[in-house]
Amino acid sequence: MKKTHQNIRTWYKLYGRLDLPWRTTTDPYHIYLSEVMLQQTQVSTVLERYYFPFLKKFPTLKALGTAPLDDVLKMWEGLGYYNRAKNLHKTAKILTQRGQAQGVPPTLPLNIDELIKLPGIGKNTAHAVAAFAFKQPVPIMEANVKRILCRLYKLKTPTDKALWEIAYNFVDKENPFDYNQAMMDIGSSICTPKNPQCTLCPLSSICQGKEEPTRYPNKKKRVVPTREQNIMLYTYNDKLSLTQRTGKFLHGLWGFEEIDVPLCASEYIGEVSHTYTHFKRICKIYVYDELDATRNNYFTVQEIRKLAISKVDDKILKLYLDTIQTY
Ligand code: SF4
Repeated sequence: MKKTHQNIRTWYKLYGRLDLPWRTTTDPYHIYLSEVMLQQTQVSTVLERYYFPFLKKFPTLKALGTAPLDDVLKMWEGLGYYNRAKNLHKTAKILTQRGQAQGVPPTLPLNIDELIKLPGIGKNTAHAVAAFAFKQPVPIMEANVKRILCRLYKLKTPTDKALWEIAYNFVDKENPFDYNQAMMDIGSSICTPKNPQCTLCPLSSICQGKEEPTRYPNKKKRVVPTREQNIMLYTYNDKLSLTQRTGKFLHGLWGFEEIDVPLCASEYIGEVSHTYTHFKRICKIYVYDELDATRNNYFTVQEIRKLAISKVDDKILKLYLDTIQTY
């Protein structure tokens, strides 16, 4: 195992993405933020558009914990999976209040069990914070690491429990930071889902699955259901009506209204679609250009740009603006 760990470390020093900003900082909050942003989102997107602006706006846990949720959602706009932002905010709030009660600056707990108790911090995020921020000798378990472990041991449908056990046995306890970062980089650049390059892999000498790597793990075929919705844009005097969502879905974000049956006097302008993890939304868009006296929430386009809105609502707004421009 020592030799394998050495190979992994050497590979990481030569080919790893050593310069990623969350790998060069020792600030646990910055590392935690990157872990949350990177769930379901590519490194390039986080790096190019979200990580730095978010930290500029909320440079510390305290700054985040004392900010209004609307401001946090605005900085998260477009990144999707908004529960991540809400839980991040809740956790920062809890830690800020805890720090205030103790008369110290807020900090993340060192202990994995304590980390898991905080909103939105699952087992993998807790392990990542422990390994990367606090250099604890624990493994992480994101998608790239799972795939590598399955191939190393020819596992088609392992349970999470079995994978964690293997990961704990396999982790380099002397260099958990480099080891875990290397595993993610190997998974994203070499041991890729479709075209693994085993001849370049530092794990090749011990890999049991390298003859037919793509057989491991078994791929689950997912059927994504489709939901069709009618969306009504209430417009008046170059303003549009939006409401802030209070339900579970996209909670806290502003959006256009869904209705069962389009109003007779409305005009159909087209449809937009968006695929989430569990379903695809197809929205048929109608415009009702009369003042609706029951509404007091009309915004100009400039004002809407300052609100936190979802990707779908952004697409709807774009469709509307394109439509009125062609008239
Ligand atoms: S040898 Fe091939 S299958 Fe095995 S871990 Fe490396 S890239 Fe993946």
